[in-house]
Amino acid sequence: CGIVAYVGPKPAAPVLIDGLKTLEYRGYDSAGIAVLGTPSGGRASTTVVRAVGRIRELEAEVPKRLAGKVGIGHTRWATHGPATVANAHPHRSADGRISVVHNGIIDNAAGLRNQLTQAGVTLTSDTDTEVIAHLIARSSAATLEEAVLEALGKIVGTYALAVMDEQHPDRIVVARHGSPLILGVGEKEMLVASDAAALVRHTSQVVHLDDGELATVTAGGFTTFDRAANDTGREPVEIEVAA
Ligand code: GLU
Repeated sequence: CGIVAYVGPKPAAPVLIDGLKTLEYRGYDSAGIAVLGTPSGGRASTTVVRAVGRIRELEAEVPKRLAGKVGIGHTRWATHGPATVANAHPHRSADGRISVVHNGIIDNAAGLRNQLTQAGVTLTSDTDTEVIAHLIARSSAATLEEAVLEALGKIVGTYALAVMDEQHPDRIVVARHGSPLILGVGEKEMLVASDAAALVRHTSQVVHLDDGELATVTAGGFTTFDRAANDTGREPVEIEVAA
């Protein structure tokens, strides 16, 4: 139902929780965040917190000293599987490396779930979304962008997606097809949201993605590209706020 993502100099969790609260008006049954942190000299690792019910309940479960500065968040309006913690987003690959939030519906999820199960993957939710995390993790592509493009080539349906990767902890890759997604361009920080309402308190500079478009966001900025990996060269525009 709603997506928010952050990469920048601040701890991501409070920004994500705050963003999810601004999306609450759209309705949802469960919510979650994933935060990617890299301790100095250490390996990047992901912390996922999910809860059924209000964002306040999710917020209460977020560890106080969660310091990671890259994160994705989601409010879910269930289409595949009931409103449970296991079905709440973010969803992760079996090795935990890839985390995904998704708005929309993957039409060929049942077939993909079967293929993954036959390949030995244990699925941990009833959702259509979870297959995306496994498909990205199983790609042998060198970059996260290529792995996401490869996974999208196997998916039929609608999506707004945000993806994090412990092997590329400086970035979030997002994709849009049939479900809205907007980048917010800040000072040494980038946000992504399914709704401009979650961006306005951070920045007035936004980039509207088209269907079939993807973006990579890092603390230093963003690049946009299409399904053939060609740069689409988007520039930020001043946000239009309804009076
Ligand atoms: N189809 C996905 C699910 O049921 C995403 C639903 C949504 O857009 O919130 O988990």
